Amino acid sequence: MPEGPEIRLAADEVANALVPRRTTRVEFAFPELQRFEKQLQGHCVTEVATRGKAILTHFDNDLVIYSHNQLYGRWYIAKKGLYPDTGRQLRLAIHNDRYSALLYSASAIEVWQASELTRHPFLARLGPDLLSEAVDAETVVERLDSKRFRQRQLAGLLLDQGFLAGLGNYLRAEILTHAGLHPSLKPAQCDTEQLRKLAREIIDLTQRAYRTRGIINPPQLVARLKQKGLTTREQYRFNSYGRAGEPCHFCGTAIEFSNAGGRKMYFCPGCQPAPSPRK
Ligand SMILES: [Zn+2]
Repeated sequence: MPEGPEIRLAADEVANALVPRRTTRVEFAFPELQRFEKQLQGHCVTEVATRGKAILTHFDNDLVIYSHNQLYGRWYIAKKGLYPDTGRQLRLAIHNDRYSALLYSASAIEVWQASELTRHPFLARLGPDLLSEAVDAETVVERLDSKRFRQRQLAGLLLDQGFLAGLGNYLRAEILTHAGLHPSLKPAQCDTEQLRKLAREIIDLTQRAYRTRGIINPPQLVARLKQKGLTTREQYRFNSYGRAGEPCHFCGTAIEFSNAGGRKMYFCPGCQPAPSPRK
């Protein structure tokens, strides 16, 4: 499942092809949406926004196409009218005189008035989006320390899209390792300095993943790993995620793995000591 940074990168590609151009044709596969084809034709796409894992394609007539890729949805950008050779089902096509933005496979697709979006049942439940809203560390600390979230274990909390939108499995594992916090800890068990560090890592690592297209290890570490012969992206991008049994790059302890709740959780027992039972 792509996480916030991958969705934001996909949205950037859609924006590069569509903004601020006028559409020549818009096509929906779902019959209930086809009445919007005429309403969107000949209008300019003004913005391609993201909220967590949802993409919002805004038009100059106040209409917005909401799409959520779920597991299999995928955007392709093609030269106008050139469809890629894929066995996937085309769900949505937005054409202008230069490009076609094509959304394939199982996806939730809806058309909304921009002014009504605050009532969208999925969007209304989302927490702030770190890549499309200006969220500072103080705001994240306040959320961590709020009544609603402070008694939740960090492992579950960081995946809750109502807490912050866009975090997924790999970001969760890497954020907690960098913050030095065991996944079973609750914000209520952390001191102020720990919460501040966690908030900073949440913001910094999400933005780094966006900038580097998913490479979480710090640049100096990546350079060192490459010198040691770890030259493929999969070998140097993460410290904890997907590295069970391998030594932590920061302290050398073997990374551990648990499968709590069916979601793969990786952590470093050296960097992330288990909470003392008295806390
Ligand atoms: Zn470690």
